[in-house]
Amino acid sequence: MNVIQPLIDLQDTDGQIRELEREARDIPQRKAQEIARLNGVNAALEIAKNQLAAMQQRIKSEESEGEEIRAKVRDLKTNQLNIKSNKEMQQSIMQIEGLERDAEAAENRALALTEDEIPVLERRVADAQAKVDSDKGGVDGYVAELDARLAEVKAELENLTKERAAKADAVSKSNPRFLLYYERQRTKRWPVVVTLNHDGVCDGCHMKQPPFVEQLVQHNKDLVACTMCGRILYRDL
Ligand SMILES: [Zn+2]
Repeated sequence: MNVIQPLIDLQDTDGQIRELEREARDIPQRKAQEIARLNGVNAALEIAKNQLAAMQQRIKSEESEGEEIRAKVRDLKTNQLNIKSNKEMQQSIMQIEGLERDAEAAENRALALTEDEIPVLERRVADAQAKVDSDKGGVDGYVAELDARLAEVKAELENLTKERAAKADAVSKSNPRFLLYYERQRTKRWPVVVTLNHDGVCDGCHMKQPPFVEQLVQHNKDLVACTMCGRILYRDL
């Protein structure tokens, strides 16, 4: 057996732990991104609703402008009963004609907006609402999935932590110095234990090793470190 096989076993477990820890860190971020996206979809619906409401308000004000003018016309017509001179009557008729044109213009604007703008804005609200409805289910499902996965990851990590303790113990029992060296390297580079390939190159940093390093690895009696990066070298037997 390779003299550093227990270290390789330990490194396998550490590799799995690193991956799961990364996943556990990523999950809250992925959740936050999904929620932010949903907030954006909700905001789009709010905007569409506000645009529709603003248009309805505008139409209402055109309509009430028309009604006000029509009321004025009615008053003027009532007052005509009291008009004594022809000239005054002529003026009143002209004024009423002008006001009726204004009322009609306001009514036409209200009608045009109702026919042209309202259907477009209503469709926009409906589309945005549909998007909110479909995304809401999607996000809720996705978030639930992520929560479930996070629980799974945590459980796996708990098991692996126990497994790791046992493996570290095994290394320590056969050679405490190996474990110390490995633990120190682990904080700086990953992976720590790498193969020395058949060209005598470290698989970690890809530097060619001097012949004596290759010979030591070949002997397989002690821990041999890469002269460049310090990784522990071994050869697949
Ligand atoms: Zn190296």
